[in-house]
Amino acid sequence: MTLIDTHAHLNHPQFADDLDDVLGRAAGAGVASIVAVGYDRENSEEAVRLAHEYEPLWASVGIHPLDALTVREADFDRVAELAGDECVVAIGETGLDLYRGADWYKAQVGLFRRHHELAAEVGKPLIVHNRAAARPCLDLLDEWGLADVRAVLHCFDGHAQLARRAAGLGCFIGLDGPVTFPPRKSDSDEPTIWGIARAVPLEHLLLETDCPWLAPVPYRGRRNEPAYVTYIAAHIAELRGISVEEVADATTANARGVFGIP
Ligand SMILES: [Zn+2]
Repeated sequence: MTLIDTHAHLNHPQFADDLDDVLGRAAGAGVASIVAVGYDRENSEEAVRLAHEYEPLWASVGIHPLDALTVREADFDRVAELAGDECVVAIGETGLDLYRGADWYKAQVGLFRRHHELAAEVGKPLIVHNRAAARPCLDLLDEWGLADVRAVLHCFDGHAQLARRAAGLGCFIGLDGPVTFPPRKSDSDEPTIWGIARAVPLEHLLLETDCPWLAPVPYRGRRNEPAYVTYIAAHIAELRGISVEEVADATTANARGVFGIP
């Protein structure tokens, strides 16, 4: 069984001391490729550096929406320069964060749009952060055009119906550790993310860890890492009533198709 972790921040300082061990465990778990995702200038540079150094790693370069007010022109220029690198397979993460940044929506939209233009220019997919913002992200992408830019809605924060709409528009949906979280005692319905995990057509689904954050059960609350993508695959398989191999085969083929990973 071969898996791909399409969203890992191995370029985060939390992995600086033991990256070789982390990659060894990923290989042992069947994780063949990993996309190291940048969220600011320095971190994007680091993602590209690692992708050149470690064979299973590929990079994505971009600036996070929560930096929309402080980003300098030179930062975006550097990201645009890195975008053409042979190890860079996507642009982002960028997008909207209306959980913490709702006050400066306009600045986020402006930064998001520049990444969309960059993705179209270099012909690489766009990784979209959509916290508390799945619908506005989708509306903007639909308006700007999804013909030239394939979008990945990473850590999808919408609901089942929106997930179907996103897939209908050709977007890919990334699911992470929260899909393994049990319902809270106060919840009368099942978790929204479970409905999403069932609703996304298999050919639009991607697996990701978003490590070092969002570790799945049984590692919840600890540092996350790419090897744990197996728990996410297993839980999605259980929710959909299919085998984990089917989830692995479909999501790995999707990741190879979207990112052009060999
Ligand atoms: Zn991320």
